[in-house]
Amino acid sequence: MSDLQLQKFELGPIGTNAFLVWEENGTEAILVDAPPQAKETIAPILATRGLRLSALWLTHGHWDHMAGAAELTSGEMTVLGHKDDLELFENPQCMSSFAMPGMEFQPISVTQWVSNKDKLELFGRDVEVLHVPGHCPGNVAFHVPSEGWCFVGDAIFAGSIGRTDLPGGDFATLEKSIKDNLYTLPPATSLHPGHGPDTTVEREMATNPFVPA
Ligand SMILES: [Zn+2]
Repeated sequence: MSDLQLQKFELGPIGTNAFLVWEENGTEAILVDAPPQAKETIAPILATRGLRLSALWLTHGHWDHMAGAAELTSGEMTVLGHKDDLELFENPQCMSSFAMPGMEFQPISVTQWVSNKDKLELFGRDVEVLHVPGHCPGNVAFHVPSEGWCFVGDAIFAGSIGRTDLPGGDFATLEKSIKDNLYTLPPATSLHPGHGPDTTVEREMATNPFVPA
């Protein structure tokens, strides 16, 4: 099995992270989240490496994580999401009052709904889906144990947590999600959040001021 490659991009008006993952010498790539400008940003990388984008894994349905999805997705592409964000995927303009003025939103067709503890496959590696609601109802994390990676969306950030004042947000729910589903991961696991720098389970358990371990 060839090594996995991971490239991070910070995109859009509020600096939202997207992560492109592919297997060295492979022909396919997957993208975790699709902020605005995702397509033009990853297109040269796909072209240079001869990769086809085969799947989009959405951590949640907030506009800044999926405003670039509609132009990226083609008929045969798998789009993963959690059903508790159905309203956000299908009716994204419901969040327009929280977005940048003048932005346009297109609905996203999720082709595969995922739930807590679902198993996925990433170029031959196991992936576990972790439901971590609280920032919004349908936030999921994608844990890749072989690589020590966990893509967490807006559940937790380096030294912070996702805001809980948006519709569907709830601090107690988020705190429980983090403690039950993220702080139980191996301590050295890299957390790849939807905003800002990467961190680790160990570091957040020791220093996160909002959700102490
Ligand atoms: Zn969000």
